[in-house]
Amino acid sequence: MSLFSATTNRLRTFPARAVRLSGIVLALAAFAAQTASAERWLCPDCLDQVIDRPAGSATLECPACDASYAREDLSWIIGYGNYRTRDVDLNFLLMPTDCDRFREDGLQAMHKAGGTIWVPWIAVQYYIPRQRILVLTDGSELTTDYAKTRGAPCPEPPAFMFDVADTIRIDGQQPRVTQRSVEADLAELFFVAGSPEARASARARFIEEVESGKHPRLPRTEPRVAGTARQPIIPKGGQVPQAEAEVEVRVNDQSSQLLRVHLLRSSGYPEIDTAVIRAAQSSQFMPAGEMGVPVPSTLVLHYSIRGGTATVDARPAVPSIWED
Ligand SMILES: [Zn+2]
Repeated sequence: MSLFSATTNRLRTFPARAVRLSGIVLALAAFAAQTASAERWLCPDCLDQVIDRPAGSATLECPACDASYAREDLSWIIGYGNYRTRDVDLNFLLMPTDCDRFREDGLQAMHKAGGTIWVPWIAVQYYIPRQRILVLTDGSELTTDYAKTRGAPCPEPPAFMFDVADTIRIDGQQPRVTQRSVEADLAELFFVAGSPEARASARARFIEEVESGKHPRLPRTEPRVAGTARQPIIPKGGQVPQAEAEVEVRVNDQSSQLLRVHLLRSSGYPEIDTAVIRAAQSSQFMPAGEMGVPVPSTLVLHYSIRGGTATVDARPAVPSIWED
């Protein structure tokens, strides 16, 4: 796992860019006529105003409201994102090496009137890349290209570095926090927003879209036990004619690590409870999937114990994915 910070991640793009420059001189010449022409942008103030902005211009000037924005003022400083159902705050520095869909100052969308339009980040309330939903600050909505499609104009969407912290809670143990560094590109985030409130709206919208089945190419998959659940080892003294116990297990999106192991329903016998918790903890699980990626999710394991043996049934908890 790379340990680059967001800032060094930004800087390391430059050598790659310099190398590519020599190879694209001819392409640049071919594009000269186009770069001289204007791009169509939306004004962040009067959102229905389309501005012809000279390509590469350091400012965005709106003739309708007289506003003038420097390029760097068109972007969020912090992006409020969501990675695999977890909220994450992003140092929102977009310096894509090779992408003409996401830029420092905005992203490209489909305009209602046809063709493409550039939208400043500060005019965006939230953006859901995989669902191609772009909601502007006035509540109006545009669609975009599918962000996971690689190739021109975006072979390499801009990437972010951030830490994911999880608290592991296992019955009978002190809670502990694990932290890992993640590098994910914009297209991998479930959504990004300009404020925590807008992120909450994006979350509700994302779930609504999934629940309504509008994205059937990537159905939700439930978590499950991999192989056979581990049998509890019932100590001789703990053997009883009959007992039932339930253990709730929260599976990480990295299936090797459990986020929670909790006794939901006691058997009434402490030794059996301890045995089923240990059995749950040492079983193997497959995480759930949402929009095609693994996400943390919760299973309930039901143990029926008769004498020295147990049968185990697993079912997804409700709600199993979008926990608060
Ligand atoms: Zn304006």
